Amino acid sequence: MQQFQHYIGGTFSDGAAQFDSVDPATGQVWAKMPEARRADVNAAVRAARQAFLSPQWAGMSASARGKLLSGLADLIAQNAARLAELETRDTGKIIRETSAQIAYVADYYRYYAGLADKIEGAHLPIDKPDMEVWLRREPIGVVAAVVPWNSQLFLSAVKIGPALAAGCTVVLKASEEGPAPMLEFARIFDQAGFPPGVLNIVTGFGAECGAVLTSHPDVDHVAFTGGADTARQIVRNSAENLASTSLELGGKSPFIVFEDADLDSAVNAQVAGIFAASGQSCVAGSRLVLSDRIKDAFLARLKQKAEAAVIGPPDDMATEVGPLCTRAQVSRAEDLIAASETAGARVVTGGRPLEGDGYYFPPTILDCSGAPDAPCLTQEVFGPVLSVVSFTSEDEALQIANDTAFGLASGVFTRDLTRAHRMIRGIRAGIVWVNTYRAVSPIAPFGGHGLSGHGREGGLQAALDYTKVKTVWLRTSDDPIPDPFVMR
Ligand code: NAD
Repeated sequence: MQQFQHYIGGTFSDGAAQFDSVDPATGQVWAKMPEARRADVNAAVRAARQAFLSPQWAGMSASARGKLLSGLADLIAQNAARLAELETRDTGKIIRETSAQIAYVADYYRYYAGLADKIEGAHLPIDKPDMEVWLRREPIGVVAAVVPWNSQLFLSAVKIGPALAAGCTVVLKASEEGPAPMLEFARIFDQAGFPPGVLNIVTGFGAECGAVLTSHPDVDHVAFTGGADTARQIVRNSAENLASTSLELGGKSPFIVFEDADLDSAVNAQVAGIFAASGQSCVAGSRLVLSDRIKDAFLARLKQKAEAAVIGPPDDMATEVGPLCTRAQVSRAEDLIAASETAGARVVTGGRPLEGDGYYFPPTILDCSGAPDAPCLTQEVFGPVLSVVSFTSEDEALQIANDTAFGLASGVFTRDLTRAHRMIRGIRAGIVWVNTYRAVSPIAPFGGHGLSGHGREGGLQAALDYTKVKTVWLRTSDDPIPDPFVMR
């Protein structure tokens, strides 16, 4: 049985209690995790505040911060195999994906390493003759970062990278589901030479660890990724400390295919868009909005690909679809599919969990034409479930695409350039992928609106969001300031 520890103030410690971590491939407990309660969280925030004020960190040049981040990126690359293996073991995400993703986790840290000394203030052309006025960009303070189980190394990199580049300090709460890769990441971070307390990593349950952290009076900003219901709690928690928040939430992203699209590419992108990570991805293209002129042919190809996917143990490089992370996710998918069938949807393939050990759910396609209220069409399943709806005109495609409370990602497949531009303009989502899907880069911002949250991760803006502006007024005249009470 493996044991993991928290990382607080540069030292490793056990939590107030421990909890079991289950291997989703077998349903068996494989590790003991430390559980942070109030005292542990308080200690982590205290360590982050002390580090924030310490001369070692506050007095460090931005270039030196960048060098430390760059060294961290190298360490991540050197330890990639171990990190990928642990993420696969603890969350069920297949090794093909965790190994590929860890390479660009290192790239994100490298990108923010380069940005650290490019976060500039500004000089204002002020409307007064004897004043110099400029803006300093200063770190926002202590950041509470809270992440869900899927892609924790990546979802934490897009918070820790820009926050440390800007000079903040961080307490990261790893998900209680599959925290092993984050707790191992702490061991790697510890070798990178940052002053103690700059990054603290704990795990525990939302009700105590998460709530205490996000309402803590000494936290200045909360960076959250997770579900909309939890986000509402976080916003309520931030009424305590009045911390600013950035919320990266879920989606019900439309994947729109017109009849003139390159259908082979569209099928492959749709398969990757919904069945990669077993659909446990915030940007999953979970609503296929399909031209009725190609519906039957397209669905036949998709069905064939879905049924040919190799389902198996996540640590096998041949596996294409692994287990879901938790038993609760399996039940959620099952329940939403059953309710969608009641609402008139038809299962094209899949639809039921696999028998046996582990939390396996096959790629599933639901034809929801004529069932607009099917829950799978309106709610995020967070599983390998694709809901299909067809359209006859471009206007109808746009109307269906925007008929959602979410607004994270979208995909458009067409060879018609002018139509592509009309769709880009019309779609209400934070990301539009045209003739591609699920592409990401450290350089490109990422985020949504509506129930998908607010704020952007990735890119330059994300680093600026971890700063606050200080306005400086400096009078350049040596003339005495006149006595304000003497009338002239
Ligand atoms: P979740 O909201 O249940 O949990 C996320 C994190 O919040 C966990 O660490 C949890 O312990 C913590 N938490 C729970 N209650 C809390 C509270 N009261 N106060 C503070 N923290 C609390 O999410 P999940 O089910 O683990 O993850 C799936 C969700 O995450 C999906 O909706 C998915 O779309 C979303 N997600 C979004 C993105 C994005 O970038 N937009 C990326 C990945 C996942």
